Amino acid sequence: MTTIVFATNNKNKLREIREILGSDFNIVSLSDINCHEDIPETGNTLMENSLQKALYVYQHYHQDCFADDTGLEVESLNGEPGVHSARYAEGTDHDNQANIAKLLRKLGDNPNRRAKFRTVITLIQKNPAQRNGNAASSETIHYFNGEISGTIAKEKRGTSGFGYDPLFIPTGYQESFAQMGDEEKNKISHRARAVAKLAAFLKSQVK
Ligand code: IMP
Repeated sequence: MTTIVFATNNKNKLREIREILGSDFNIVSLSDINCHEDIPETGNTLMENSLQKALYVYQHYHQDCFADDTGLEVESLNGEPGVHSARYAEGTDHDNQANIAKLLRKLGDNPNRRAKFRTVITLIQKNPAQRNGNAASSETIHYFNGEISGTIAKEKRGTSGFGYDPLFIPTGYQESFAQMGDEEKNKISHRARAVAKLAAFLKSQVK
């Protein structure tokens, strides 16, 4: 069985990927490999941050691994909060209510409320030589992108989920992510779409 480190300790993310990948893969978390340090996330883009996290694990723990990074990109705010989604409200970290309040304040009555959630997953695998005949490189890096378009509500709606879920109404739906609940959200979400691409890629390797 292939063991791959997922650079997270988020139990929901772990469960989601394990369910999708099934029994061919042993997905372990950071705490499973005794990685308890704060992995730096200083990139300017989602791709840079997910690469930074995956590279950290790969270089320190020498195991195949992947990392994800997610942001909400609001069109009329030039893509804000984007890579800063977790710490959008100054001096905070993962303070969902403060982040939501700041976003609503900055958007005001702006009629253009288009936005999208985007997730980038970076996968690093060693020894690609056996797979692609390129003996020169010792690892390969793959990126998987998942996104969903929608609009930002004028006020919070619903109580399930996390982060900006109460504000985000996916295109084609009347309810926010926080109103529809996790099960329905996880069928269409940015992260589910990126994870599905990662899973398809990994499964194609074991065929
Ligand atoms: P992370 O990269 O998954 O840690 O996400 C960074 C930040 O983006 C989180 O702190 C949330 O504010 C926001 N975020 C990520 N995914 C979601 C989601 O599915 N719904 C709402 N907000 C999210």
